[in-house]
Amino acid sequence: MRRFAAMIIVALILTVTLSSSLPALEKPVFFQIPLITDNQVTDSIPCFRRGETYYSSVEQLVEAMVGSTDSDRSTLTLSFPGKSVTLTVGSPFASLADGSVWQLLMPVEAIQGNYISETLSIVKLLNSISRSELSFDSEKRSFTLKPFSPPPQSKDDRSRWALDLVIIDPGHGGKDPGAIGFGGLKEKDVTLDVAQRLNKFLKSKNIKTVMTRDSDEFIALSERTSIANNAKGKLFISLHCNSAKQRKAHGMETYFLAPSKTERATQVALLENEAIRFEDEQNRYKELTEESYILMTMTQATFTGESEDLAGTIQETLTKKIGLNDRGVDQAGFYVLIGASMPAILFEMAFISNKDEEKKLKDKKFRQKVAEELGGAILNFLAEQEKAPGH
Ligand SMILES: [Zn+2]
Repeated sequence: MRRFAAMIIVALILTVTLSSSLPALEKPVFFQIPLITDNQVTDSIPCFRRGETYYSSVEQLVEAMVGSTDSDRSTLTLSFPGKSVTLTVGSPFASLADGSVWQLLMPVEAIQGNYISETLSIVKLLNSISRSELSFDSEKRSFTLKPFSPPPQSKDDRSRWALDLVIIDPGHGGKDPGAIGFGGLKEKDVTLDVAQRLNKFLKSKNIKTVMTRDSDEFIALSERTSIANNAKGKLFISLHCNSAKQRKAHGMETYFLAPSKTERATQVALLENEAIRFEDEQNRYKELTEESYILMTMTQATFTGESEDLAGTIQETLTKKIGLNDRGVDQAGFYVLIGASMPAILFEMAFISNKDEEKKLKDKKFRQKVAEELGGAILNFLAEQEKAPGH
């Protein structure tokens, strides 16, 4: 009898130990994490934890940020003034109303009637579409909410431009000189100077800008798109000078990201992608085979149409106003454009390998003209986008 009782106790202990050591419980236990607004607890959000990862109720977060939700059987649409996004159970991809796609860290789950997402990535997504700002502190186990307060109205009607953040990316820099002309002119110096002039021009037109570099420093290609995405840029403009073995090659061309269709475009991409040989972790970039290409360009694919339009506007304006040979718009696989969550183009302003064009590239007046015409083309593109439906 005693032995039997002992066996039962052992079995009980085993059951308890085993079940508590299971990594993911089938029915997660929710707990509430306080939401703090202006140093006061104003709400609480149902959350649970798996390992080190926190998950939260999406609907409660949206409600706290004064948005609305609308759920279907397997989708949840989150709406804020002027913006909305749809989540699908089982998928980490969120589709925004403007056609872009956002990737969450984990697939969305539906548990006990609650839509659940990994906390940090859903907070980031919500911040991008709502006008208030939420943050999550996993150590303090608290949410902090900064409600949106409208900025004081500017007298200048053009204050709406403040929403249009342009990322200016001067190609190469530091240990990577880019292409070098026969007269010794370095691509990295031309791109930085034109970028600074473009920056000044856009700022004078009330457009916000971020430069990926503002001095002669080396920046990895992938870091440039990270800077752009973190700043929530609206356009990404990468500036370069072309170079070819045939010294006669001359003119301007503009590229957007898509698989190359011509040998010439492939050669230009190969040349610009060469910058990675200055980087420490070169294996970050896998060879752009067809398959890996599709995966890597998924983010940019959403913007292919807009990127092509932007490239067209730039190429047309610049060749008309500057008068260099029009080599047209083309597409190729540029590492620097991969992963940018915005329309992105690469502009080859002239051939540094061509004697006459190198002379032009050295000329301050030419640089200023390129910067201003480029700025003008960007303004036109942004104005057209505002007119387009959905904006
Ligand atoms: Zn370049």
